[in-house]
Order: sequence, then structure tokens, then C-alpha cells
Amino acid sequence: MRYSGLTITVREGVHVSQLWRADLDRFRAGDELLDVDRFEKLAGFYYRQGRIDIEGEPSIGKKAANFGRAVLRHVATAGKKVPESVRRERITICRGCELYNKAKGTCRHPRCGCVMQRKVRWASTDCPIGLWGRFYEGEK
Ligand code: SF4
Repeated sequence: MRYSGLTITVREGVHVSQLWRADLDRFRAGDELLDVDRFEKLAGFYYRQGRIDIEGEPSIGKKAANFGRAVLRHVATAGKKVPESVRRERITICRGCELYNKAKGTCRHPRCGCVMQRKVRWASTDCPIGLWGRFYEGEK
């Protein structure tokens, strides 16, 4: 299953939309027809607001698929890398993030699972919950 290895729980006493709750049930059931973009977008929003917890890590297959997508984007942008100051800023944010696996140096988010020391160097990458974004020429 696409998300095996991950547990998402809604914290006590918080509000999440009925639609997203239904998506969460489908996520737990491993429903392949789940609208992943819609589900992940709101999951990121709720996570940033402290309304949900995400435990575990994406499966190996999911990590590989996510990494493959990141590599394709990196290649499509001619392998452009960020300046050192941006790399340091990004990795500092990751190290302070609850989804950062300190032991492995990886991101535990369902849309990531990547080794962050590498991923933060690439201009085309972004944080799945919006804590840092893609880097565009002339930004810094
Ligand atoms: S990429 Fe985003 S979600 Fe993942 S560890 Fe870094 S800051 Fe956290």
C-alpha cells in the first residue's frame, strides 16, 4: 500500500473537515482511489496547525517514488543548486521540525522520506508542508 508505515491521527478536541475525515478513513483503508493531492494538501495544513500527528515513515517504495520525482524535477531544472546560505537555512528548519528523523536525517512526511542533506541542496525541491519553498534565480 502506498502509505504503509505511516499513521495519521487527529488530536483530541480539534476540528478537521468532514470531507478530510472521510479521506483519512480511505487513507487508513489503503483506498487507491483516494484523491492524494487533496488529502496531502489539507494534511500539511492541519499538521502545521498542530491538529494531527503523523507517525512512522513512508514505505521504501513510496520513498523511492518520491525521490524519483525529486530527481526528475532536479534534472529538468538543469541540476540547479541553492546558495550555501539557503541550504543552511533549509536544513536548520528541517532539524527543528517534528517530522525530521534525526537518526536517519530523513523527512517522515508521506510526500517525502528523502535524505534531507541532499534534497535541501536542490533548487527545485520544496518542503511538503510549506516550511520552505523552491528557490528561484535572484531570490537571495
Ligand atoms: S522537508 Fe519540511 S516536513 Fe520534511 S523535515 Fe523538512 S521541514 Fe519538516
